[in-house]
Amino acid sequence: MLAVTRSSLPRVPWRVCRAAYATAPSLNPVIEQDIHHFSKILPSTSVVSTLSPVASPASDLDQFNNDWMGKYKGQATTVVKPKSTHEVSQIVRHCWERRIGVVPQGGNTGLVGGSIPLKDELVLSLANMNKVRSFDPISGVLVADAGCILQSLTDYIAPHNHIMPLDLGAKGSCQIGGNVSTNAGGLRLLRYGSLHGTVLGLEVVLPDGTILDQLTTLRKDNTGYDLKQLFIGSEGTLGVITGVSILTPPAPQASNNVILALPKFDNVLPLYKLVKQQLSEILSAFEFIDRTAYELAVKHGQGRALSDEDVRGAACFVLVETSGGRREHDEEKLNHLLETLLEAEKPLINTGVLSQSPAQFSSLWALREGVTEAISKEGKAYKYDISVPLSSFQDVVDGTREHLRSKGLLNDSAVKHVIGYGHVGDGNLHLNVVAESYSPEIQAALEPYVYEVVASHRGSVSAEHGIGSMKTHALHYSKDEVSIALMKKIKEIFDPRGIMNPGKVLP
Ligand SMILES: Cc1cc2nc3c(=O)[nH]c(=O)nc-3n(C[C@H](O)[C@H](O)[C@H](O)COP(=O)(O)OP(=O)(O)OC[C@H]3O[C@@H](n4cnc5c(N)ncnc54)[C@H](O)[C@@H]3O)c2cc1C
Repeated sequence: MLAVTRSSLPRVPWRVCRAAYATAPSLNPVIEQDIHHFSKILPSTSVVSTLSPVASPASDLDQFNNDWMGKYKGQATTVVKPKSTHEVSQIVRHCWERRIGVVPQGGNTGLVGGSIPLKDELVLSLANMNKVRSFDPISGVLVADAGCILQSLTDYIAPHNHIMPLDLGAKGSCQIGGNVSTNAGGLRLLRYGSLHGTVLGLEVVLPDGTILDQLTTLRKDNTGYDLKQLFIGSEGTLGVITGVSILTPPAPQASNNVILALPKFDNVLPLYKLVKQQLSEILSAFEFIDRTAYELAVKHGQGRALSDEDVRGAACFVLVETSGGRREHDEEKLNHLLETLLEAEKPLINTGVLSQSPAQFSSLWALREGVTEAISKEGKAYKYDISVPLSSFQDVVDGTREHLRSKGLLNDSAVKHVIGYGHVGDGNLHLNVVAESYSPEIQAALEPYVYEVVASHRGSVSAEHGIGSMKTHALHYSKDEVSIALMKKIKEIFDPRGIMNPGKVLP
């Protein structure tokens, strides 16, 4: 059991944690001599720096120093954009020798501050490493540079009738290396499992510049410790991933989706049970959005609103997707499910909206996928990406809302909405608190409150987004002392100088 008491918690907002790191003496800032060195390794267009002799305007670094939510802000003076593994290795080796902190950055869509320097570390952007190295349409094994954007890989393999085993709202910007580094979950995990299963091999530049070549395409390889697993989800703290070998599944021959409107959250669990039973092997997603999340998605132009009749009396919605090998067979199963649901004596759902065309299929998905973006347009979001038992999803959301109300913070000038949505099929709830602005009062009201609730359910404080800099102080809610001590030892083995993504993941 995790022993958690209120007094055992560091009551420090993330900004204070960052300041604490800033005083750490062991790392050096990038200086002009380093720029000279990087300029020997890379063409001038691949070094962006406010330092001489490059002297770019500070605004050129904004996109690298600010995260997607506008929550985390770094002070990097320099960004390098290598094109090859060899260049990454030379840069990292130099940083190792000079003890300069290195922050690997992919698409910078992470939601926990992992890709933003805490201070003035070097940002190593993978954006220029964007080539597919090979694709075998028989085995479905794709080998690509880490900087390839997820959507471009999806497009690359589509003509070969394959799909990526993961899909997420940020697919147009996030990179496969970032996905692996965060062990991203997303919308297909229910069907294809986690990246710990689908990633077959990795190429990684270690903190001293050594290239670890584990870029195997083998599905079976029981030759000792499976080192690549350590880098999946390590958020750039153990090395820079430069190449990824990943197993891609054949594209389903038929996909359907339906949005079900439910009168109360209590119906979600029995619905999930029934849907699993009836759809079995063709079920590929079971996603949940509460009423507020739905309304924000519609308000901010994500997908087409359902009719008034379809949303009347709905407390929440579930999006069910099927993917299978034969359209008639899948449609028959789905129609049978809908009949069962609508004709039941005590119906679990009010209505169901079934997509009838590819455009409607995308529009229904947009209502779910677009929630993250809609929230960012609505205000400043405190995002808690947690794993808790399915049965407690609604209690966690309602409890948080009541907690904020009791603190006098639930009003238009503080917290506007408390929202729940997420990957119900994976037990992953996105609890989002949308505020007018980030404020210490809201932060203090939410933490440690939310983490204590998670710990009381023996849940996880990070289901899929990672720890980054946001949750280092909360790691102990989900990992015991022995586990954290071992993680620190592993970090020490790979990176005894602590240059890789300092201040992230480990407290
Ligand atoms: C609209 C939206 C929807 C999202 N939906 C989901 C979702 O459904 N599921 C989910 O899991 N996440 C989701 N996310 C979060 C985010 O997209 C994922 O975490 C994604 O995997 C990050 O990829 P990235 O390339 O942007 O990485 P970045 O944000 O650039 O980096 C993330 C972390 O990985 C490290 N890193 C990046 N590249 C490398 C590399 N090559 N080598 C070593 N370390 C590296 C960084 O240092 C950082 O710690 C969403 C984000 C947005 C904005």
